[in-house]
Amino acid sequence: GINRSTVNKAYWELKSEGFIDAQMGSGTIVASQFSRTAENTDAYIPPMPWPQIMTQPYQLSGNTIIKTALEAIGEPDTISFAGGFAGDDVIPVDLVKSLMPKCLSTYGSQLLHPTPLLGLSALRSALCKQGTLKGIQAGIQQCMITSGAQQAISYLTSLFISPGDMIFTAAPSYVGAIEIFKAHGAKVVGIPVDQFGMDTDILENYLIRYRPKLIYLNPNFQNPTGTYLPLERRKKLLDLAYLYQIPVIEDDPYSEIYFDRIDVPLLKAMDRHQYVIYIGTFSKMLFMGGRLGWIFGAEEVIQRLGFMKQVTDLHANTLHQYLVLEALQSGMLPKHLAQFRAQVKAKQDVMVEALNAYHIDGMSFNIPEGGFYLWLELPSRLNAHSFFEACKTLKVAVMPGDPFFPQATAEHTYVRINYTYPAISDIHEGVRRIMKAIEMATVT
Ligand code: PMP
Repeated sequence: GINRSTVNKAYWELKSEGFIDAQMGSGTIVASQFSRTAENTDAYIPPMPWPQIMTQPYQLSGNTIIKTALEAIGEPDTISFAGGFAGDDVIPVDLVKSLMPKCLSTYGSQLLHPTPLLGLSALRSALCKQGTLKGIQAGIQQCMITSGAQQAISYLTSLFISPGDMIFTAAPSYVGAIEIFKAHGAKVVGIPVDQFGMDTDILENYLIRYRPKLIYLNPNFQNPTGTYLPLERRKKLLDLAYLYQIPVIEDDPYSEIYFDRIDVPLLKAMDRHQYVIYIGTFSKMLFMGGRLGWIFGAEEVIQRLGFMKQVTDLHANTLHQYLVLEALQSGMLPKHLAQFRAQVKAKQDVMVEALNAYHIDGMSFNIPEGGFYLWLELPSRLNAHSFFEACKTLKVAVMPGDPFFPQATAEHTYVRINYTYPAISDIHEGVRRIMKAIEMATVT
């Protein structure tokens, strides 16, 4: 036999000569060429195996649906119904023009300084005051400012979800949230949506069998279906959350975008036990480029999120926080919203009119009473792949519905159509192109 230390010594010699590569935990391999040493700087340097060293969620090639939608914006001649934001004809440039000088003269250099981790106290107070008017009981310690709702969803997922944990969402549900959940290794289970939103009877049946860490939904003009959860379902949802002790995330970008006043309160306003974590955003009410949102939640949750803010980007953009503060304090936000709702409704009307004018058998859609989207079911004889190819050729962009279902189960082809981005004068032509694409992709 050979002495163990002789073998070890031989290995060390081979390694120091660069004939082998040894790595703790992954064994020893023959070096592909001479390894790089202090003396041998011309040695072959292998390419960095980036995908292999990334953490698991990011090794997976993600869905590119959001990337594609953002890129379609500004493509010449393309009429885009794929986005989720206001277009040039309704975006509040004049409002910003009037707020900006006021901000500069009132706050001066403060606009350029950092803010606390949780955001400007004055803005948080103003948001709490707004919340109170809607029946939400949240003090400043239960409120934080985020860089958009997207960051809020991300943070909450990091805070609660370990790989393998389960989340219940509506099916369909906001694709951007589903992707965050999946990137964190969550099992995302979809609760079907009907014309009133998430079906709470089915939710109950699922809760009898499974115990999710979170329930996530947009009860108010849901993305993508535009549904508004009725009072009875809200009560039932909360009762179930209390019974099974599950936190509920109410992601709410659209409740202020109503066309007729709605009397059903926000879920967070009905919750007296701090089970609901509320996410608000200025992306839809004002503009998306500002990346400003907020969270109302239990103080323990907000404190942890403050630390997350510290380890990611310290705080939300200061200038934009002051801009929004000014919009709230000057009373200009409600004025803007009144006008904006009317503009969005006018665009929705044109959209609906065009869809009816070009109606195709087997196609159906709802007419939401608020929000940014129509959810269109396409005829069943349609070849979805050809349809999206035809859209590209005809220079019209729509959001494919499939990725909005957490589990690929949809039997029909759906598309989400946004009516706030395209110019009102382009909507008819855009719908004509969508209908042409349907015809081109229909199997006869
Ligand atoms: N949640 C929902 C339901 C949304 O529709 C959106 C915007 N598409 C977001 C979150 C992200 O919003 P923000 O721009 O505030 O990050």
